Amino acid sequence: MVTGKNYIGFDLKAKGNITYRTFNPLLNIQNETIFVEAAPEEVHEAVTLATAAFDRFSELSGNQRADFLNAIADEILALDDDLIQMYCSETGLPEGRAKGERGRTVGQLRSFAELLNEGSWVEATIDTGIVDRVPVPKPDLRKMMVPLGPVVVFGSSNFPFAYSTAGGDTAAALAAGCPVIVKSHPMHAGTSEMVAAAIIKAAKRTEMPKGVFSNLNSSGIEVGVHLVKHPQVKAVGFTGSIKGGRALFDLAAQRQEPIPVFAEMGSINPVVALPSALLHQGDDWAKQYAGSITLGAGQFCTNPGLILGVKSTSLDSFIQTLGAEIEKLEPNCMLHPNIFDNYERGKSELARQGGVTVAANYEAKVPANFAKQKVLTVNGSNFLKNPTLHKEVFGPFSIVVRCTDVNELISILNQLEGQLTGTILASAEEIKSNSELVAALRGRVGRIIFNGVPTGVEVCAAMQHGGPYPASTDSRFTAVGVHSIKRWVRPVSYQNWPDAVLPAALKNGNPLKILRLVNNEHTKAPV
Ligand code: NAP
Repeated sequence: MVTGKNYIGFDLKAKGNITYRTFNPLLNIQNETIFVEAAPEEVHEAVTLATAAFDRFSELSGNQRADFLNAIADEILALDDDLIQMYCSETGLPEGRAKGERGRTVGQLRSFAELLNEGSWVEATIDTGIVDRVPVPKPDLRKMMVPLGPVVVFGSSNFPFAYSTAGGDTAAALAAGCPVIVKSHPMHAGTSEMVAAAIIKAAKRTEMPKGVFSNLNSSGIEVGVHLVKHPQVKAVGFTGSIKGGRALFDLAAQRQEPIPVFAEMGSINPVVALPSALLHQGDDWAKQYAGSITLGAGQFCTNPGLILGVKSTSLDSFIQTLGAEIEKLEPNCMLHPNIFDNYERGKSELARQGGVTVAANYEAKVPANFAKQKVLTVNGSNFLKNPTLHKEVFGPFSIVVRCTDVNELISILNQLEGQLTGTILASAEEIKSNSELVAALRGRVGRIIFNGVPTGVEVCAAMQHGGPYPASTDSRFTAVGVHSIKRWVRPVSYQNWPDAVLPAALKNGNPLKILRLVNNEHTKAPV
């Protein structure tokens, strides 16, 4: 079923001479299929086809693109257990996780279909002209969002469905009217090919133009670099490490025509535990955090990698319970030996830093590629002066900081890099009396959580998944939820255009029956 070839538009091709295989981390062996990296001419062909497809694809009605997205969801579900087995064999993740992530991916596609069928997302804004205005007439101006053009999507290792081939970036870009070229993640190339086949099948069934989607294999950075440099590519979506996202962002900025790179990257997701939370519920929070830190072998961008508290006996007892609880949990398999090696390197590097002590370390023997959880502690001043301790360790790892007082805690928050999430464990009274602390936390993050854990990203319109750099390269946008479509569009104003030739969204009669801003009033009424 999986060929190891590239989807260049609707065709499977393999002209390149670099090959690779994926890896089954649970069995600790390579999988059988040989994947062929896309040759430079195939990269060019995929972009050329996408460019040719853009005109027609972007002009389709919202309903037509919605049908395409729903068909992709149907085709993914039709792959049924074969797809789930492929996912598991390339990630070591359990079936339950694969099915949950598939549900989320299908749900995302359908939510964009609903958005398109409803139609108001184009933000039609109309200011009617005033011909007799003095001293000069006011022109008739009508603005709406239009798609950017071909988009390249880089998925991450840890979400082979939801942040990959048919994941959020792809769904949002296709919804916007942008053809997509996926740079398949080398760790789950088989899963990517199967999902790509589902997209191609859906594209044919709903009569989408050839080139609306391509899936390119690659085992190194060359294919991605070639894609980002290609003059006909108009935007990039990336989910992955800070190193990778930043490299592609810089590359895009150096182009003759710079293009936006929406990179969603790593994060340590600070958690602030204020005294009353630890005094009254310290043990509960310790148990919950042991679960959150180790969930999915800690391979989540929202993993709580940093817990900040003020020195006290209740903080000590929280640390002790957290250590005891986390050591009770069975380690899980990581996605790939390279990710396991990075984890081992990262946690050893942080454990070697000055003033750091070990609060928990899973000691028992585990199978190959299984991550042993670890929790470190350090005092506030050592944390403040050592940026190495602020780095993401991708895996079941966290560091608890004992701050001298709330002021030191605020200094730490102010010094942290941008984060996807920030959590505060506190009473409502403490929130009121710590406004400076809350402002400092909000200043560093995209989502601020009250009395909870950061893992678990609800897919809905009010979700903000993205934060100040380096959590994202552009904190004004989200990578999750229907508002993520805004990354792939730009506004265009039509000035003094006759009604007959205006796009449907801007016509006087409002044939799409969408909500528009007409002369500063939200309305569905005709002009
Ligand atoms: P990664 O190593 O950065 O890889 C992501 C993709 O980018 C891969 O396809 C990789 O291809 C490519 N890539 C990386 N560096 C590149 C470069 N210099 N030039 C061209 N292509 C490059 O990340 P990962 O290991 O897959 O994912 C784990 C990271 O993702 C963690 O840091 C996690 O926190 C983050 N993450 C963030 C979010 C979010 O929404 N913010 C969600 C999930 C994961 P090659 O492997 O072929 O180089």
